[in-house]
Amino acid sequence: MRAVGKSILVALLLVPAGGLAQEPTQQVAWARDLNATLARARTENRPILIAINALDNEGGNNFMAHTGYREPSLVAATRPLACLIANPNDHRRRGDTCPRYGATDCKTHRDVLTYALRRWSNQGDIISPQHALLAPDGTLLWRQEYVIQPNALQAQCEKAVVRTAPKLALELAAQTRAAATKTLMSGTDPKAYLKLGDPLAPAVLLLLWEEDEDAKWLDALKQAPPSAFGLVRLYIEEDDAFLAVAKAIDAKKGAWWQKRLKGRPAKAPPPHDAKLRKAFGALKRGDKSGLAALLAALDHPVDGPEVRAALAELAGMDHGPAPDGWKEHFSR
Ligand SMILES: [Zn+2]
Repeated sequence: MRAVGKSILVALLLVPAGGLAQEPTQQVAWARDLNATLARARTENRPILIAINALDNEGGNNFMAHTGYREPSLVAATRPLACLIANPNDHRRRGDTCPRYGATDCKTHRDVLTYALRRWSNQGDIISPQHALLAPDGTLLWRQEYVIQPNALQAQCEKAVVRTAPKLALELAAQTRAAATKTLMSGTDPKAYLKLGDPLAPAVLLLLWEEDEDAKWLDALKQAPPSAFGLVRLYIEEDDAFLAVAKAIDAKKGAWWQKRLKGRPAKAPPPHDAKLRKAFGALKRGDKSGLAALLAALDHPVDGPEVRAALAELAGMDHGPAPDGWKEHFSR
């Protein structure tokens, strides 16, 4: 595990590839053609996994290449994603398939490294191994340097799918959570299952609801983390009961922020805040004196019939016909 500098990258190009016999175990399906893959991720709405595995003769990188990326549950979790691997070497002996990374070719993994360096490196150095997850439009969702355990990377991939592609999250849950589904159907408490922190738990509960429409699944879903909001939204048109679930999750979002803000020193409101609130209160009651108070609180340099008419219209008050030209007055 070390930073890859430009000079190291050049040196690596001269190092003979591999040394380790290729294992037959299935690994993450690394895509070919960087640009086509990024474009497809966007049109098919798939999150993107970028794995930087730039050192062929280093323990952490080899652990990921020969063990981590072949862990069956990680392989399954990456299926809905567009997966790209970054490495500067040419491993080909024959044909164009890369013997180190399976499905992809060496040109693609070199292109992906160039992309990663351009995006995350200031001086041509980058830590390897390293992993990043992008939203389908390329926005960074998560990035972590150094070795990561396959189950931790799996959880990050699943979180990215839940967050950005809820329909794919349902498919993934159907494919990979048979055991959890079975225990839940045999009576395990769904709220306890949610508490275990499985990123796909809300998707599993939705699949169970599809089976028997039992309200207990929805009741448990109310305890789901805010990231499940997109999943729940898929069902809102199907059944009104989902509105209550969405509301509960959304309220939790608010509580989460409040918790994060707790403990920070309270900011004193700016002095004119109270004046503004009072003026708005008067406007809401239909009291025209609120207009003058609002102008004073805003310290607005201009007063006149145009300004008052515009504010009255904004406040939804009947202030008589607005004089000609008030809109122009404001767009000046
Ligand atoms: Zn290769």
